Amino acid sequence: MAIAIPQPKPGILDIDPYVPGESRLPAGVKPIKLSSNETPLGPSPKALAAFRETAGTLERYPDGNATALRDAIAARYGLNPARIVCGAGSDELLTMLAHAYLGEGDEAIFTEHGFLLYKIIVLANGATPVVAPETNLRTDIGAIVSRVTPRTKVVFLANPNNPTGTYISFDEVRSLRTQLPENVLLVLDAAYAEYVKRNDYEAGIELVATTQNTVMTRTFSKIHGLAGLRLGWAYCPEAVADVLNRIRGPFNVSIPAIAAGAASIADKAHEDASAAHNERWMPWLSAELEKLGLTVTPSVANFILVHFAKDGARTADTADKFLKSRAIIVRKVASYGLPDCLRVTIGTEADNRAVVAALADFVGGRPA
Ligand SMILES: *Cc1c(COP(=O)(O)O)cnc(C)c1O
Repeated sequence: MAIAIPQPKPGILDIDPYVPGESRLPAGVKPIKLSSNETPLGPSPKALAAFRETAGTLERYPDGNATALRDAIAARYGLNPARIVCGAGSDELLTMLAHAYLGEGDEAIFTEHGFLLYKIIVLANGATPVVAPETNLRTDIGAIVSRVTPRTKVVFLANPNNPTGTYISFDEVRSLRTQLPENVLLVLDAAYAEYVKRNDYEAGIELVATTQNTVMTRTFSKIHGLAGLRLGWAYCPEAVADVLNRIRGPFNVSIPAIAAGAASIADKAHEDASAAHNERWMPWLSAELEKLGLTVTPSVANFILVHFAKDGARTADTADKFLKSRAIIVRKVASYGLPDCLRVTIGTEADNRAVVAALADFVGGRPA
């Protein structure tokens, strides 16, 4: 007879655990880590100073409403602080949204090469993931709309998307919203919004402000350089903010995160410098790799998707090994349905030049 052991809810054992970008190389080699879309400029010095100042008060519980942080975010973007909810990374906010709005029998839609977390949080709630194909590695709103059923409860859309680096215009997002039933929650995950320099892009603030069924999530992990601190925020309709505030941990954002986040969001100059660095080096790296004969998907974010041969000596897997032998760590994206690609984060000037030099040798058939 089988031993009865505690069983998780249906769906949970169908989850493939999330595998983060690699960060280690053998035997003390200091790697060039371009695998997790972190900023090469680091956090704002003002955020670091605010973080350090909290060291004397760590025996205290944080302000459970993260008021100073929500006020700073509201001031920066002209928002109503009552509709901002903060979390331990936008991962926590996305997880809470799935927890609140999805259950057994429900469906949630995301795109073919969408962020892997979506599938995890849908399955974790016993709901059914529904995948909408992309067109040329870009979100196809028609494909999303055509997969809506009476069971659809949530659509998760990363815009720009990770790992493709592509985006859809605000017109398309608005059109998607119009075509979705009103009871479907549209979650706009705008983790890379600050990097996008396109006139037709909008992260989602306007849509959240004017509809009852759209949420935008943002993160301090990318352009703010605070990935290790775990901090994100969501801008929500009042009813959704109320739901999230009922289910979140009462102290889900720590004292250091509140302090550093508030200082960081107020330091527009540091954010601008990080965006300017990316604007300089992302097109440069894309162009240099294309000169080597590699295909690069046009990106608006702080990473690029590089395509390799399907078979033979120049596959993504062999390129990945070659780069590792040069202490360069990038992201394999086979788990995103892109086995012939590698995702490369934009690094410092030296990092970017090292990637080009290494891939030139790889493409040229020179030894690792
Ligand atoms: C990096 C990333 C996030 C941010 O996650 P955090 O939990 O805030 O660190 C969210 N969505 C996408 C698509 C990302 O690439």
